[in-house]
Amino acid sequence: MFIVKVKEITEVLERFAPLSLQEPYDNAGLIIGSPEMEVSQVLLCLDAVEEVLDEAIKTNCNLVISHHPILFSGIKHLTGNTYVERTIIKAIRHNIAIYAAHTNLDNIRDGVNSKICERLQLKNTKILSPRRGHLMKLYTYVPHKAAEDLRAALFQAGAGVIGNYDQCSFNSEGYGTFRGNINTNPFVGEPGVQHREAETKIEVMFPVWLENEIISALKKNHPYEEVAYETIAVNNKWEEIGAGMIGELEPPMEPAQFFLFLKEQMKVKVIKHTRAINTTISKVAVCGGSGSFLLKEAIASGADVLVTSDFKYHQFFDAEGQIIIADIGHYESEQFTPEILAEIFRQKFPTFALRFTSINTNPINYF
Ligand SMILES: [Zn+2]
Repeated sequence: MFIVKVKEITEVLERFAPLSLQEPYDNAGLIIGSPEMEVSQVLLCLDAVEEVLDEAIKTNCNLVISHHPILFSGIKHLTGNTYVERTIIKAIRHNIAIYAAHTNLDNIRDGVNSKICERLQLKNTKILSPRRGHLMKLYTYVPHKAAEDLRAALFQAGAGVIGNYDQCSFNSEGYGTFRGNINTNPFVGEPGVQHREAETKIEVMFPVWLENEIISALKKNHPYEEVAYETIAVNNKWEEIGAGMIGELEPPMEPAQFFLFLKEQMKVKVIKHTRAINTTISKVAVCGGSGSFLLKEAIASGADVLVTSDFKYHQFFDAEGQIIIADIGHYESEQFTPEILAEIFRQKFPTFALRFTSINTNPINYF
């Protein structure tokens, strides 16, 4: 029988949406359960609440993967007083693991927001608010002959990806000098004698969360016993990581036509929106979940509309006639998120059983 452990699944998810990309307030990752547990079936949902756990028990799923973490902050007692406590107790009693892919899934290019862009058929999409602090650069020096293999190993480990390009590097030729002491066994040259070697300097970029993999690939594939290298933090904003997305609506639509399209595509009953100022909507900014913090950036990027949720009354005034705010509801904006998780999962475990919850966990009802 094909056995998959919790950790094998979470590794795949975290390779796609690294936990280091979550916001500081967040609690994404494995929340309940052991990484070593064998998984019977996976249940995907937006909110791992009690009813979803009941469904997991009934359908023999012992790993629940949600978007929202059931646990955000510390709890001091487990008496079953709140829905959070009851959910945790139930999960532990029935040996069910709970994992959440939350703001780490919001902040990647192919995450929550790309799903909304896909539903709205937006073209030329990009991250609305790219982030700094996620890129590093490696410099290393290697004999010419070993450069090709080393580059290949670094690329294999995930270095050298810039947008739609991979295997990106810069290489320059020079020479290095070194002298090993009597305890050395140099790849070239003699101990105690200065050696001059024609070397290639390889420069590659990589995401900060791959640092261990990249350095380990470097050390494994570099011929010297002491590998000369430097890593530096790169301050560039990275177009692959950040909040919200923006894309073009083709063909552009009148606001009323767009609202109908939005309702249909996002399965929304009600849209709360500011005055429809533009004659046509051609640029659409989106942010799954609470996205009011992106209003200024959406205006600056020339978006005609910002599709998101959780705007407060006074925040609607901030549209200032420069953009249309379209608040479609938190649950509604993220309801297709489990499909992203399913797509990643199926690529890696094509034959493994996977279910979507049949429960609508939206706590908000419309009359
Ligand atoms: Zn959310």
